[in-house]
Amino acid sequence: MELLCPAGNLTALRAAVDNGADTVYIGFRDVTNARQFPGLNFTPAQAARGVEYAHQRGVRVLVTVNSFVQAGGWPQWQAAVDEAGRIGADAVILADLGLIAYAAEQWPAMARHLSVQASATTPEALAFYKRRYGVSRAVLPRVLSMQQVEALAAEADLELEVFGFGSLCVMAEGRCLLSSYATGESPNTVGACSPAWAVDWQETERGREVRLGGLLIDRFAPEEPAGYPTICKGRYEVEGSVEHAFESPTSLETAELLPRLKRAGINAVKIEGRQRSPAYVGKVTRIWRGLIDQIPDGDADFTPDPEQIAALREFCEGTTTTLGPYERKWQ
Ligand code: SF4
Repeated sequence: MELLCPAGNLTALRAAVDNGADTVYIGFRDVTNARQFPGLNFTPAQAARGVEYAHQRGVRVLVTVNSFVQAGGWPQWQAAVDEAGRIGADAVILADLGLIAYAAEQWPAMARHLSVQASATTPEALAFYKRRYGVSRAVLPRVLSMQQVEALAAEADLELEVFGFGSLCVMAEGRCLLSSYATGESPNTVGACSPAWAVDWQETERGREVRLGGLLIDRFAPEEPAGYPTICKGRYEVEGSVEHAFESPTSLETAELLPRLKRAGINAVKIEGRQRSPAYVGKVTRIWRGLIDQIPDGDADFTPDPEQIAALREFCEGTTTTLGPYERKWQ
C-alpha cells in the first residue's frame, strides 16, 4: 500500500520524504485548497522545489486543489491547476466538476484524483468520474464504515485511497456549515475551517477562553492542553452540563485495520495534517512507514507493534484515538 503524507511547507515535505513517504500532498498558498492558513502552503516556486526534491528521491507529489470554485473566482482556481501542471505534479486532487473537466482537457498527462470533498460513495459515481474525466483514483469520504469501504472497493474500477490517521471532521465531507455559521467562511469556500483571523484567545479568571467569530467555543483550565479550535470540538452547555456536544478531540487511527484495507484492495493510506509541524509530519510518517511495512501478505493476521502505537498516540488530539465511522457496531 502507498503511504501518502501531508506537507504544509518545504521543511515538512522534506521530513515526509526523508522518513519514508511514498507520496506527499501539498497545496498552494491561497483559497484553492482546504487547508488555507496564514503562513502555510507553497508558492509555485516552492512547490517546484518540493517536486524536484521528492522526484530525485523517487517520491511522488500531488497538488490539492479541492475547495469549490466560488462565483467569479474561476481564474484563481484555473491558475492553481495550471501551476500544478507546470511544476510537474504527479496528480492533482480535485472536487469541483468544472475543474476536473478543465484538468482533463488541458493537462491530460497529469493524473486526476477525486478529493474526499467530492463525497463519491457509490460505484456508479466513481465510474462516472473515471469514464467521463479519466479520474484514476478516488479518496473515499471519512463517513464510510469498513463494511461500506469493502463493498465499494469490490465494485470500484479505479484506485481507492482512505484516510488512516489524523484529525477527524464530523461533517459529511464537503458539507459543514458550522464554520460558516460563526465566520462566514468554510473549508469548501475559502479553504479554512476556523480561519485564523476569527480566532481569539483570552486569559481570564475563569480560564483560557477561545472564541470563533466572537462566539465562545471553549474554556481551558490552566494546564489543560488546547488544540486548534474548531466549533465541532468545542465545549458547550447542554441541559446544564458543559461537554463536547458535537465531537470529542480525538484522532482517527486505523493501524489495526491495515490488513483488512489491503485485502479489500485499497491502494493508498493517507495521513491527515498539512497544517501540522514538520516534526509531527516526520515522526508520524516514520511510524506509519513501519506499520505499512509490517503488513503481511495474504490473509495473515497482524498486530501492530504496541510501541509504535504508543508513540503514535502521543501525536493524537487529546492523546485518544478512534476508528471513527470505520467501526459501527450496529452494522
Ligand atoms: S467545524 Fe469541524 S466538522 Fe466543520 S469543517 Fe471544521 S473540523 Fe470539520
